[in-house]
Amino acid sequence: MTTAPQPPAAPRLVLGIDLGTTNSLAAVRAGKGARVLRDRDGEPLVPSVVCFHPDGRTIVGRDAKALRLDFPERTVFSIKRLIGRSAAEVQQEATRLPYRVVAADRGLPRVQIGDQQWTPEAISALILQQVKATAEQALGQPVREAVVTVPAWFDDAQRQATKDAAQLAGLECLRILNEPTAAALAYGIDGSKDGTALVYDLGGGTFDVSILRIDDGVFRVLSTAGDTHLGGDDFDELLGQRILAQLPPTSDPYVLQAVRAAAEGLKIRLSDADRAELELDLGDRGAVKLAVTRAEFEAAIAPLVQRTLDCVTRAVKDAGLQLHELDDVVLVGGSTRVPLVRARLQALTGKVPHTGVDPDLAVALGAAIQADVLAGNDRSLLLLDVIPLSLGLETLGGAVQKLILRNSTIPTSVTEEFSTGVDNQTAVDLTIYQGERELAQDCRLLGRFQLRGLPALPAGLPRIAVTFLVDADGVLRVTAREQRTGAQASIQIVPTFGLTRDEVRKMMLDSIEHAQHDYLAREAIDTRNKAEAMVRGTQKALQMAELPPDQTYAVQKATKALQKLLAANADAAALKAGCDELTKLTATIADDVISSAVTKALKADEIR
Ligand code: ADP
Ligand code: MG
Repeated sequence: MTTAPQPPAAPRLVLGIDLGTTNSLAAVRAGKGARVLRDRDGEPLVPSVVCFHPDGRTIVGRDAKALRLDFPERTVFSIKRLIGRSAAEVQQEATRLPYRVVAADRGLPRVQIGDQQWTPEAISALILQQVKATAEQALGQPVREAVVTVPAWFDDAQRQATKDAAQLAGLECLRILNEPTAAALAYGIDGSKDGTALVYDLGGGTFDVSILRIDDGVFRVLSTAGDTHLGGDDFDELLGQRILAQLPPTSDPYVLQAVRAAAEGLKIRLSDADRAELELDLGDRGAVKLAVTRAEFEAAIAPLVQRTLDCVTRAVKDAGLQLHELDDVVLVGGSTRVPLVRARLQALTGKVPHTGVDPDLAVALGAAIQADVLAGNDRSLLLLDVIPLSLGLETLGGAVQKLILRNSTIPTSVTEEFSTGVDNQTAVDLTIYQGERELAQDCRLLGRFQLRGLPALPAGLPRIAVTFLVDADGVLRVTAREQRTGAQASIQIVPTFGLTRDEVRKMMLDSIEHAQHDYLAREAIDTRNKAEAMVRGTQKALQMAELPPDQTYAVQKATKALQKLLAANADAAALKAGCDELTKLTATIADDVISSAVTKALKADEIR
């Protein structure tokens, strides 16, 4: 039998999509690098704006942005600030948006346009559809798959909602990729840039900084920090205030939108010029004539820029590095075109930032490279990300046993063995927490489930293997399995709603501030658990071992004393003394039975 020569299989086409707060775009792998896909006018950026025109048309992108002034209440932008979050969480945010955001069922936000309600996912899907259509037109063929980027600190709910949006747009999302990681990919593509890189991404609405290690084409995120509420929009806001100061007080959406657009124009001109002028005629609503120097603008935004630098310092520290150890500083996001941003970052790091890749396009280009890896066309790159806060399990007494530590690279999986705290316990509650503090009450509850069907055994004997698995998209799955019976239960954590970056930061700061107190509280719980285990283990050992009566009596007496201390809620020092006393007695007996019974009782952490 012979086979005809096969033509080489066409490479699978997967888009890299930067779904931005302000602008979105797509790119594909091309040669050694990637190329952005442009519309007929040669423009790659699709403004992340959707206008629901009163005549019934739905307009997306540049044309929608142009209609912001005409239909401020029907033109939706910054939808990325709402996606995957609860109505309560975005309430404050919504007061600043000219369109209406209402709370719908399950406390989720909807955008109210006339008598219709839209989910943030559906609106994001409209943007993605536009990006997809632009890409397909540029490529001359349909595309079904994509890698979509999100800010590094998007939580599970936000990532999941972004995936849902892609699906609504007719795209299968092969991977959710962190934006700074994508940007670094765009820079490190030739693999010759081994070393440590800082990726500074200041867009319209979010700021992300990541520290990456690049070795032999392997990208590892060492740490991340940033602020989900900091970007070029805030610069616009400051200039907008100066414009509004010249107008009669107003809450007219038309005026607010016009001022917003004028402020952005001023800002962009100030990136190239030392002085910019504005003449804004709003008809019977007023007029503005204003000149702003770059020095004035810089003075106004300096505190915001400083906030980004504080994040940079923190990320570098979290990575276990010093500023001078950074090899590369990479700029991403349209707002890094502001000269002050570049200057301050350069002054802080002592490094001239790279500007070789267009800051607006870097994320999409990197996503395209990763997309090609996932398509199976490029096997030379590997990509790792980190989780922002430690993940752990509540153990007896309310302490948290951390299984996965903060800044661990993902995907990752950790298995630890636990046991029961009470005799004949046939079910255990597994309660999962996120945070850096020692006690459950100070961490964030992520979820809870029960493992039933345990064999009725003395406390400490069931062997329960608990596995924490964080997949490549940052989603956590916890599985518990009793080793003897094989009884198993698991939970996939999609937290109701995630933490804002400020909350994450606060949790970090709290953990440092309360470290001493937490340590003592944790020690008290551990001591108590240890004392209880000793009492149980010793009692069991006494039944098994045949000891001379006087020694039995001495051990019994010390055990009873320890029990009394436990019942009286004695402090850690007293419990420790009681444990030491008992240990001394059991040690002099030097009985294998006792020591092995106590060790057994102490072996595994106990779940409630
Ligand atoms: P996002 O990632 O949030 O979608 P982008 O990376 O596209 O945002 O950046 C958009 C922001 O960049 C906007 O605030 C825009 O005004 C700002 N921007 C774009 N060009 C310039 C420029 N030349 N000078 C200053 N800011 C700019
Ligand atoms: Mg961006």
